[in-house]
Amino acid sequence: MTSDEGSEFETRNSKLETDLKWMRHALTLAARAAEEGEVPVGAVLVKDDQIVGEGWNRPIAGCDPTAHAEIAALRQAATRLGNYRLLDTTLYVTLEPCVMCAGAIIHARVARVVFGARDPKTGAAGSVFDTLLSDRHNHRIICESGLLLEPCGAILRGFFAARRKAQRSGVEVDASLDEDSVDEGQGC
Ligand SMILES: [Zn+2]
Repeated sequence: MTSDEGSEFETRNSKLETDLKWMRHALTLAARAAEEGEVPVGAVLVKDDQIVGEGWNRPIAGCDPTAHAEIAALRQAATRLGNYRLLDTTLYVTLEPCVMCAGAIIHARVARVVFGARDPKTGAAGSVFDTLLSDRHNHRIICESGLLLEPCGAILRGFFAARRKAQRSGVEVDASLDEDSVDEGQGC
């Protein structure tokens, strides 16, 4: 290995370590959603290795169909930074963004999106729609998937399994929850 290859390897490794650190944080936010009875998805927006916004899914508690984890993270960051453009940021999210969130991410000019599990029902980063990846927008986003795929998918599967069990045992469960089943078989 040449010294150039060696330093490239180190750079890649430290980037992966950073990505893992923030995706683990997103997973803790997803767990908060689960504790609140919401579909467990968490998101964190990072700039210069600092959190500028974070959130978890809470449309039921907030009576707000737009209260997805990504939107919460973007809103918090925009308020904190005093700017609706969130340049040079990376969004880490445990589940592939939907069309609404992909649109908001593009409007915010987020530079990079890293997500864990794919969403074969509503995913807008290639699974169902290509919104996040389309070159017809005037802003291009770097999109990477499959980071911590297993825990990102497992938290969703665990949540829905517990919900089905509760339904079978006659416990009333919020019928407004849609099951976003997760495909863990692929990554882009
Ligand atoms: Zn969404």
